[in-house]
Amino acid sequence: MSNGPPVTAGKSLILDGITQRYGASLAVDTVTLDIRGGELVALLGPSGCGKTTLLRAIAGFLKPTEGRVIIGGEAVDHLPPNKRSVGIVFQNYALFPHMTVAENVAYGLAARGRPKQEQKARVAEMLDLVRLGHLADRFPKQMSGGQQQRVALARALAVRPSILLLDEPFAALDKNLRLDMQIEIKGIQRLAGTTTVIVTHDQEEALSMADRVAVLNAGRLEQFAPPTEIYDRPGSLFVNTFVGAANVFAGRLATAPDGARRVVLDTGEEWATGTGSSLPADARVTACIRPEHLRLVEDGLGLDGTVEIGLPLGSTLVHEIRTRDGRGIKISEPRAPGAGPRPPGTPVRIRPVAPDVVSVFSEARA
Ligand code: ATP
Repeated sequence: MSNGPPVTAGKSLILDGITQRYGASLAVDTVTLDIRGGELVALLGPSGCGKTTLLRAIAGFLKPTEGRVIIGGEAVDHLPPNKRSVGIVFQNYALFPHMTVAENVAYGLAARGRPKQEQKARVAEMLDLVRLGHLADRFPKQMSGGQQQRVALARALAVRPSILLLDEPFAALDKNLRLDMQIEIKGIQRLAGTTTVIVTHDQEEALSMADRVAVLNAGRLEQFAPPTEIYDRPGSLFVNTFVGAANVFAGRLATAPDGARRVVLDTGEEWATGTGSSLPADARVTACIRPEHLRLVEDGLGLDGTVEIGLPLGSTLVHEIRTRDGRGIKISEPRAPGAGPRPPGTPVRIRPVAPDVVSVFSEARA
């Protein structure tokens, strides 16, 4: 389906300084997000980081301790959930088991007293959108998990909500079906043009579906950016290690004779880094490098170690290397046809694949 701009752009959604306290504990700490009309944004973070709390604040199930929710330029804080024009799809779909697919999709329209003729036309339009027109008379239990998920989506979209909220919508699906559904639902969202917020703790889901990802940690917003930027230029040590994999080293910053920033690892190796320009010249730093940005090399400078284990994972070769100071480092390289892993115990040398793949952060690793 199309990845282009939505056919009709939905309303914008602004979370303005949302804070939620439960007694003494701070579940959400001054989160501000400016979401464009028609955009699909993922709230990504580990369990307990505040994703569901934010979703509930948008839907109106929770009145946050501080902050405002603004939909299409208008504050909705005083409105109950059924007056906010927000549709929700839950993890368990929450379809009505005694109603047919068509009746489920018509539910919100019937509740709003829309004329029967309009309900019929809209249900047909929605089932067409999710490609389930031929199953209109089935009951939920006669359908697969993926099909039920599409019915739940059609039901949420039938009332033309300004904002669509998806709460861990693929958690109940098996891994293969999940990717198909992610692609499909993103396509449907594009066609409908509805501004959408999806809550997930699955980084692949967030990266594959969202126009922008909001990474949350312990109630705080760590970074809000497009998926490639989150992955390529993580804004914090947390983002670098939570999204994708990272090898983490302690070291200090140094400046090369040409003025370029370098990081001197505590093990003595010196690597170029494209980040850290805002830090003091000799700051203590934590350096991160992703497994796919390291290479096993035969000669020249590098970090020495021995192969602990090698895994041929189809298109990639993954090695776990043990360095002389006992640290485990993961390396992932493209696998040439016929190439296998190096045997355990093989001495190897490791080097970054390019100068700008090492990120440094002022924080120490937690
Ligand atoms: P998960 O992925 O596990 O659903 P989450 O990121 O959605 O987690 P929230 O459910 O928003 O996290 O919870 C954020 C924090 O607020 C957690 O520490 C949680 O224990 C706490 N919390 C949530 N609801 C309440 C409540 N009603 N009373 C007290 N504390 C709560």
